[in-house]
Amino acid sequence: ATPTSIMVGTGRGAELGVLFRKGDALQTLQGIKTVALDKTGTLTEGRPVLTDLVLAEGSDRDDVLRKIAAVEAQSEHPIAAAIVAAAGADLPEMENFGSVTGYGVLGTVDGQRVMVGAARLMIRRKVDIAALEPAARAMAEQGKTPLYAAIDGHLVAALAVSDPIKPTSAAAIAALHRMGLKVAMLTGDNQATAQAIAKDLGIDHVAADLLPKGKVDALDGLRSAGPLAFVGDGINDAPALAAADIGIAIGTGTDVAIESADVVLMSGDLTGVVSAFDLSARVMRNIR
Ligand code: ADP
Ligand code: MG
Repeated sequence: ATPTSIMVGTGRGAELGVLFRKGDALQTLQGIKTVALDKTGTLTEGRPVLTDLVLAEGSDRDDVLRKIAAVEAQSEHPIAAAIVAAAGADLPEMENFGSVTGYGVLGTVDGQRVMVGAARLMIRRKVDIAALEPAARAMAEQGKTPLYAAIDGHLVAALAVSDPIKPTSAAAIAALHRMGLKVAMLTGDNQATAQAIAKDLGIDHVAADLLPKGKVDALDGLRSAGPLAFVGDGINDAPALAAADIGIAIGTGTDVAIESADVVLMSGDLTGVVSAFDLSARVMRNIR
C-alpha cells in the first residue's frame, strides 16, 4: 500500500469509529490469522446482575446477602456491583478488606470472616464446597458465573451473576469467520461458563480460568496458527493487548487498555473489529 492509501484508510477508519494509533496497523491486520477476545466487557456488556442465590442449610438469605455485599462494596469488579445492587442500602460495617485478583474478596463483618469468590478461592482457603457444587455447576452450564460465599470458613451460599452478551457480538464473530479468521475467547471466568457462552457464539477456541498474566501465555499458545489480534477492555487485558501482534481496545474500556492498544474502537462493541479488518483488506488492495 502507498502512504497515500494508508492515509486515506486511516481517515476512513476515523469516520467508521476505528482509530489506528499506529500507522502500520492497517498492514499488520492483513496477516492476522486468529482474533482472541476477552469475555467480560468485550463480548458481554460487563454489567452483570445477580440471578441466583442458593443457601447452605441453616443460612439466612438476608444475612448472607448483606454480609457479602458489605465486603463487595469495597471491590471495583463488575461482579461486586451486581451483588451490592441486589443487597440494597444500609449495609453493615466491614473491615480488613482483602482482594485476590482472579479469586475474589474477603473482609470482616460483625466479627465474622466473610469470603466471596470463585471455587478456587474457597479451595485455597480450605472451605468445603461439595454441598453446593451441583447447584453451582447448573448455574455455569447456563452461561452464568457461579460464586461461593463462606462465613468463618463455612460455606453459606452459592450464587451466580449473569452478564448479558452484547447484541452485536454474534454477528461480528460470524463476519470474522467469513473473513477466514479463527476466533478465540480468553477469560478469567470458569471453564463451564466460558464453554456455554462460546458455544452460543460459535467461538472456535476457549481458554478459561486465566489470571491476567495467563492471557499472555494463552496468546503464546495460539501463536502457532500465525499472527493474532487481541480485543479487550479491562486493566487485566493490558498485558495481552501489548503482547498481541495487534491489540484492539474497546473505546468504552479502561484507559490502561486504550493506552496499550494499536487500534481503538469508538463504539462499545465488536462491530468495529470487523470494520478494521475490512478496511485493511481494501487499503491493501488499494481500493478506496
Ligand atoms: P474476568 O474479567 O474475565 O471476569 P477476573 O480475573 O476479573 O476475570 O475475575 C475472575 C474470577 O475471579 C471471576 O469470574 C470471579 O469468580 C472471581 N472474582 C474476581 N473478583 C471478584 C469479586 N469482587 N467478587 C467475587 N468474585 C470475584
Ligand atoms: Mg473485560
